[in-house]
Amino acid sequence: SSNMAKSKFEYVRNFETDDTCLRNCYIVVRLDGRNFHKFAEQHKFAKPNDDRALGLMTRSACSVMEELEDIIIAYGQSDEFSFVFKRTSNWFKRRASKLMTHVASQFSSSYVFYWKEFFEDQPLLYPPGFDGRVILYPSNRNLRDYLSWRQADCHINNLYNTVFWTLVQGRGLTTTEAEDRLKGTLAAHKNEILFSEFGINYNNESSVHRKGTTLIWEKVYETVTKRMKLPNEEEKDVPVTRSRRRVEAYHCDIIGEQFWEEHPDILED
Ligand code: ATP
Ligand code: ATP
Ligand code: MG
Ligand code: MG
Ligand code: MG
Ligand code: MG
Repeated sequence: SSNMAKSKFEYVRNFETDDTCLRNCYIVVRLDGRNFHKFAEQHKFAKPNDDRALGLMTRSACSVMEELEDIIIAYGQSDEFSFVFKRTSNWFKRRASKLMTHVASQFSSSYVFYWKEFFEDQPLLYPPGFDGRVILYPSNRNLRDYLSWRQADCHINNLYNTVFWTLVQGRGLTTTEAEDRLKGTLAAHKNEILFSEFGINYNNESSVHRKGTTLIWEKVYETVTKRMKLPNEEEKDVPVTRSRRRVEAYHCDIIGEQFWEEHPDILED
């Protein structure tokens, strides 16, 4: 406490380095599950997409948005989630390590805390971990390109994994055979394999898997009845409408203009 803080030891605080994030930039924190390839196998994740695992990632990301300050949008897929702080945020004086560690620890503890809600019959075998990094984006264009990059990554991986596991599970190919079959193929060819050999139209696959999960704040209006007594009147039930913010999940394209036109308040000027 204060006595110790003013002691001859205090000079060691000067060894701390300044990691203030540049003003006026969006601050992005991206988390990624540590060694989740193995974690997924040991916890019997369905291939290629385990919906319990995706639901738990999204639940944990909601907890991050609700508990921490100034996050305007989050995007997640596979074992990763990106959180965007508003460019004017002054939370923890914009210290990168504070922001990143708060996101990572809130997310990790939520992942464990909510595990049972999503994996009823599958016990959690060991404590999972997540790495974090901080990236600054000075313009709306840069930020949108960042989010587009993550969603494009989701698309590329999910198309590959969908064909790969369809070949393995539907055709009985070994994983090595499926790998060889897909080596060097372009997206159009993968779509073609799915359609002509299995009658699967990739565009009809689940949007959660194809597009990932985007979380934003939305205003909701609630009407409650309150018993009120006005002067010179009988006590009676009066409807009262209140607005509050709630995290809302989308599984849509965020690369094109439409999403941003429908939600013009997310990005600042
Ligand atoms: P911040 O988020 O800024 O760290 P804080 O409330 O965590 O705020 P700290 O300076 O970190 O503030 O102090 C931690 C406080 O937690 C202590 O002052 C004390 O009240 C409480 N605390 C922590 N560990 C114990 C413990 N083992 N037994 C009793 N109280 C504890
Ligand atoms: P690193 O520690 O370097 O991140 P990693 O094993 O976590 O290594 P990633 O590139 O992050 O490697 O890939 C995450 C892996 O986790 C995927 O390849 C997949 O095997 C698995 N995985 C994550 N989420 C799911 C899910 N919802 N359903 C099925 N598998 C998943
Ligand atoms: Mg990685
Ligand atoms: Mg990982
Ligand atoms: Mg990953
Ligand atoms: Mg503390």
